[in-house]
This record gives sequence, C-alpha cells and structure tokens, in this order.
Amino acid sequence: MENVFHGIRSALRRGDLNGILRRTGRLPALAGQVPCFTLSFDCETEEDLEALPEILDALAAFRIPAAFACIGIWIERFPEIHREILKKGHEILNHSHTHPYHEILNQGRQFKDLSLEEKAEEIAQCHRICGQALDYSPSGFRTPHFGINHSEELYPVLRKLGYRFSSSTVVDTSGKGSGPSLTPTGIVEIPLGTSARYPGALFDTWNFLDSDKAICRDPADFTAILAESIVQLVRQKGYLTYYFDPSALTRRGILRQVLSILSPKPGLRHIPYGTIANLVRERSS
Ligand SMILES: [Zn+2]
Repeated sequence: MENVFHGIRSALRRGDLNGILRRTGRLPALAGQVPCFTLSFDCETEEDLEALPEILDALAAFRIPAAFACIGIWIERFPEIHREILKKGHEILNHSHTHPYHEILNQGRQFKDLSLEEKAEEIAQCHRICGQALDYSPSGFRTPHFGINHSEELYPVLRKLGYRFSSSTVVDTSGKGSGPSLTPTGIVEIPLGTSARYPGALFDTWNFLDSDKAICRDPADFTAILAESIVQLVRQKGYLTYYFDPSALTRRGILRQVLSILSPKPGLRHIPYGTIANLVRERSS
C-alpha cells in the first residue's frame, strides 16, 4: 500500500491530508474489490481529436485502458482516429450524434430540452455511425453535458439498442451511496466522480480548468487535487470515475503527470466500464 502513496504524497501541496479526509463523505465502493477507478475522455472538439494521438501514446506508455465518449458527426468525419482508439484496446461510448448543445456542431437546444423522440434519434444515429464507420457496437452511453441533461427516460432507449451501461450522472459522496447501480430497465448507471478537496463538484477539466469560473488557476493544483483523491480512494477502498477533455490535458502539458498519478500500482486498479457493469449486474441478481 505504501507504494501507492509514494510519489502521490509529493504531489500534495496543502499537506493537510487528514483534514481533507475528514471533510469528505464516503466514496462509493464495489465490495470485494481493491480500490479502483475508470478513466474516460470526452472528445468534444477538433482540438480534442487532434490531441488523440498523443493521448493514445501516453495511455499505452502508462498501460491504462480508457473509455472515449465520441460524437457521431466527428466519427463520420474522422473515422481513422476513432478506429485507432479501438485498435489500441480502448472503448468508445455513444455520446450522441450532434452533442446538443455544441458550439460548432449544434447550437440549438440543450439535450434536456429535446423531445424523447429527438433524444432517441440522437442516440440511434451515433449508434448507426459506429456500426457503419467503425464496425463497432458501443455498449455504453454518456449524455451530452451529463448531470441535469440526463434523465431516466433514456434507459429504455438504450436498452432497445442493446446497451449495458450509461455514465451520465454525478456521484453523491454524502453517504447516500450513489455508486454504480442497476436501474429497473437493466441498464447500469455509473456516476461520474468527484474529488477529495471539492466533494460537491464533479471533478473534470471543464469545471476545474477551462470554464470562466474554473476552480484551479494553476494546473499544478489540478494534479494535486487528483493525487489527493487517489490517496482517499485507496484509503476508503472506493471506486471513482474520472473524466477529462483530451486537449485540456495536452495543451497544459499535464497529460503524463495525470496518467502517472493514475497508473496501475499495487493496491490500485483500473477497471473498464464494461467490467463494472457486469459486477453490478451480478451482485444485483
Ligand atoms: Zn460531451
């Protein structure tokens, strides 16, 4: 276990680890599992797609398999780089066809304001393109902008297309135990994760680095927060998902540092979404 902390502790800049742990509620856990996490990327912009070769090389170097939430239009326009994701052993999540709302692709309504039929068509269209362009059937979905844009009415739509899981909600660490769970439709929902220092906020690159109200001004703060979360994850034998935008890491030169914090160590494992979905389903049956 000490190995896990080695190198991580050096990234802690505040030093008050016990204070951080006291302030934070329970993380979700998968009973019987070692501390584990799932890493995912949302490929939102052309800049993200341009960052992918660097991301894929670094993931191979650190031996981390990841999930990539991909948009139908981009898959159609740039099939080669998406094929590369699959060739390298990662998984692709259906992230809708046009990602409403999207600065370049779809400046119309938010996903939540679409009718159920329109939402179903967004999902089905991305699914069709994955089949045609990549010869691939995703088994997971992420709602564009997740959180309040997500709704339970999507589960039957996903079920019909043969999906097994969604990762579109945000984890609740208040002790209510909103870890991965089997929904009544049979789809497993795997919430997006938070951080030790800011347990109430989704820990992603948008909220922490890129938005106008970003929590971190210094990227070193971002990596320190990630490192603290991993320490807490290990202590609590918890499970979290991490979601980042590819270009947010490459542009700031922190990709390798982030992956080094997340790289497999004794007592810390990466578990793909599909495996989490199977575990949750087995335990619920
Ligand atoms: Zn997105």
